[in-house]
Amino acid sequence: MQSDVREMILKGISGSPGICIGKAYLVDKEGVDVIEKYSISPEAVRKEVDRFKTAVTKARNELEDTIKRVPEELRHHAAILETHLLLHKDKMFYGKIIDMIKIRMINAEWALKETTAQTKAMFNDISDPYLKSRAADIEHVAERIMGNLVGIKAVNIAGIDKRVILVAHNLSPAQTSQIQLEKVMGFITDRGGRASHTSIIARTLEIPAVLGLDNATSIIKNDNIIIVDGTAGIVIVHPEEETLIRYDELAKKYAQRKADILRTSVRPAESIDGQAFSIMGNIELPEEVVAVKDHGGDGIGLYRTEFLYMNRDTFPDEQELFNQYKEVAELMYPQPVTIRTLDVNGDKAILGMETPDEANPALGLRAIRFCLQKPGMFKTQFRAILRAAAFGNVRVLLPMISGSEEIHETLKIIDQAAESLEKDGFPYNRNIKTGIMIEVPSAAIIADQLADMVDFFSIGTNDLVQYTLAIDRGNRQVAYLYNTLHPAVIRMIKFVVDAGKKKQIKTFMCGEMAAEIFNLPILMGIGIDALSMAPQSIPSVKNMIRKISVSESRLFLKEVLKQTSAADTMQLITDTYGKTLTNGIYHT
Ligand code: PEP
Ligand code: MG
Repeated sequence: MQSDVREMILKGISGSPGICIGKAYLVDKEGVDVIEKYSISPEAVRKEVDRFKTAVTKARNELEDTIKRVPEELRHHAAILETHLLLHKDKMFYGKIIDMIKIRMINAEWALKETTAQTKAMFNDISDPYLKSRAADIEHVAERIMGNLVGIKAVNIAGIDKRVILVAHNLSPAQTSQIQLEKVMGFITDRGGRASHTSIIARTLEIPAVLGLDNATSIIKNDNIIIVDGTAGIVIVHPEEETLIRYDELAKKYAQRKADILRTSVRPAESIDGQAFSIMGNIELPEEVVAVKDHGGDGIGLYRTEFLYMNRDTFPDEQELFNQYKEVAELMYPQPVTIRTLDVNGDKAILGMETPDEANPALGLRAIRFCLQKPGMFKTQFRAILRAAAFGNVRVLLPMISGSEEIHETLKIIDQAAESLEKDGFPYNRNIKTGIMIEVPSAAIIADQLADMVDFFSIGTNDLVQYTLAIDRGNRQVAYLYNTLHPAVIRMIKFVVDAGKKKQIKTFMCGEMAAEIFNLPILMGIGIDALSMAPQSIPSVKNMIRKISVSESRLFLKEVLKQTSAADTMQLITDTYGKTLTNGIYHT
């Protein structure tokens, strides 16, 4: 069957740069069964908790069985399984999951997934090897329980246990985010495009991906050797010896290039014509400060503070918040740390008892709206922030502002927090810069007015795109419409930056749009002052900025503003900056 083994090149869309060579792992044509999040009714909570407990008991019994079957001479190897067994009895871990099911009224699979991720994240950035290995243990235990919850039929990306390249008809962002880096080298899909969230996640994970291949799942069979060239957007099936050697070489060069770019990441991001841009990192946990520093971040442009409010029945107290904020501020000093106040609800419900029953949570009691209804809680957060500001270079950022009243009200609460700290005799710093997220179209449209009230803007494109284009950022049915290059989005960003400049305040960007190097010519042309992104994206963004001239990008922007669709704009970017971009993503 000669035709079966003939080398074949499939052309797709570059989703994420890089090269990987390995065995194909086919996910069924309609995509995998992944862990979806869904709400359960109050009456169903007990049943859901029982379902979870049954899955745990089953997993524990299976493990006990396995341990019993370990032959005597290999007994010492069973220690790891004994550790897992202990984890299966860990009340804290399960208690958290059960609480999450009860409080947030969500399905057991999701509660397990979230708790596992949070627990793992706590261990991940710790250098101590013992603690690190605990993270892997937790994952194994969770996988076993998950297997029982979802049933054996489900193909669970998180459960893949060999080094493979995923071949799928389609992968949603949720599915992609479950990829385990030690298992999945890269992925390819029939569907999807460059600006999809799936490719954003692939780039964040730094694994090669080619999307939009049309019929890869019909052509490629399980265990076929394939080469994924994520930079060129091609996949080679049944590569010949010569091709393998060539790509092996290319992969090495790519890795080298990436290492070189990482090495230069400590240098400032200065354009060809000498303009410096501040490139900062987005974090959720103090542990992530290390990643920002290692990738050459010039500060923290977005510290999402939701984490400490999750999985508990009460709000965290001031001391707990202060300890974390202070740690981050001190670690980063003298660089800035932008602490964003609590941004919950919407797609980030945290406390069931506090979560309103809303038909449209994204348009509901979210972020600043929720906080302003809980002034006591909000004041506690500000007291912690102002106290931490005495120990570093702290700024505060308010999410989801839609109008001036919200700013007025919040500033009052900040003043009250400062007054009470003064009375209590704590060291604090009231003199901190206060900024707002521009992520609701109404705020963008009145940016010229809001600029008088705050010290800086930070554009949150993840939500700005969602609200401007009326696309639920979590709904995959409309994900194809989610595009940061939509002319309306570009105009809005320009309007905000111009308004800021007129009033002499700086505009940053901390949404995903900032992390994609193909957007840089536009953002630099618009005159954005600073960008903040996932730490792994910092080196390539800095590197790319060094290859662009601001004065040229201003001329380029004029052309961009004439385009009437995102696709045309993308084409213009590729035509004008294609070569620079390709070089910028480590490829030779
Ligand atoms: C955004 O909306 O762009 C943003 C950065 O905030 P989040 O993703 O946390 O909503
Ligand atoms: Mg947002």
